[in-house]
Amino acid sequence: MTARTGRAVVLEEFNASPRLREFPLPQAPDGGVIVACGYGGICGTDLHLQQGHLDIPTPLVLGHEGLGVVRELGAGTRHDATGAPLAAGDTVMWASSIACGVCPPCRLHREPTLCERRRTYGVNRALADGPELSGAWADHIVLEPGTTVIKVPDATDPLAAMSLACAGPTVAHALYERRPVRLGETVVVQGSGPVGLAAAAFARLAGAAKVIIVGGPAGRLARAASAGIGDVHLDIVGAADPEAVLQQVRAATGGGGADLVIECAGVPAAVGQGLTLARRGGSYLIIGQYTDAGDTLINPHQIVHRQLDVVGSWAFTGAHLVEYVRLLPALTAHFDLASLVTPFPLERHADALTAVADGSVMKAVLMP
Ligand SMILES: [Zn+2]
Ligand SMILES: [Zn+2]
Repeated sequence: MTARTGRAVVLEEFNASPRLREFPLPQAPDGGVIVACGYGGICGTDLHLQQGHLDIPTPLVLGHEGLGVVRELGAGTRHDATGAPLAAGDTVMWASSIACGVCPPCRLHREPTLCERRRTYGVNRALADGPELSGAWADHIVLEPGTTVIKVPDATDPLAAMSLACAGPTVAHALYERRPVRLGETVVVQGSGPVGLAAAAFARLAGAAKVIIVGGPAGRLARAASAGIGDVHLDIVGAADPEAVLQQVRAATGGGGADLVIECAGVPAAVGQGLTLARRGGSYLIIGQYTDAGDTLINPHQIVHRQLDVVGSWAFTGAHLVEYVRLLPALTAHFDLASLVTPFPLERHADALTAVADGSVMKAVLMP
């Protein structure tokens, strides 16, 4: 048996490079699982965590999206979230957060994504709270009871599964529950990061007739196109005249605007633009403004005159991760998801964060 220690990337202070540290590996907790992480995804949220934009405890192990192999099951753990038998050696993914189940959003409003006390691996689990190995940027993670764990079919390429590890469940929540895509719709997606690509890919699987991605920079749009995601790709980031690009988007919808516009850009100004891209009677689904990036100017007349349904969607729960994993065979049959991923060894976590920050990679994944 190998030594019972694990290495993990620890955020010790904001705006400083995280550090690789070693911790003892405990026994699997009752009802929990110890997973040998093979892959830990880096998400835009991790940049915000590192830069201190969110109120989180430090030091903590980073990594809220991962895929790995079950090393040890705690007493009483026998099945994954779907009821399938779980054993050491199985490849799994796990949901980043556990809803408390008792706060008003959980119990009364039937909205566990809005839980007031959700605990999230790699985000709000301080080292001091233990177990220390509580993030996916590590060679092991200790999953506590209540974690949604789902087996990943052996035939699935792990890099493909990791490509949309956080974006996929986020969009599953938005498109399953907040505003589904209907057959034959024309859909505009604002943003060409992982969330935008997940939205565009899911919209196609859901039966959209045409999917237009407006985003940038151009390299990201080219990567989306070569992965087979989206029918039309328009660069607004590098455009000298953004209004001209918005006109091109409207023209690509047939002139009248999209049935559904999905905001995945995360830039406040995108919202004022997005309102003008929907047809009269259409819908605007806003997913990208996960971090509070500030105020923006909108023309509310656009909402009333177009009679828009404007809908927000926040985060995801374990159920949405299960839906994402179930969709993986269909997603990988249609789209080259693995091509979106750039792997980095765990030791190169700082380089990987830099690459995500400067947009030179679509999706960085750390591999212990
Ligand atoms: Zn994320
Ligand atoms: Zn709750």
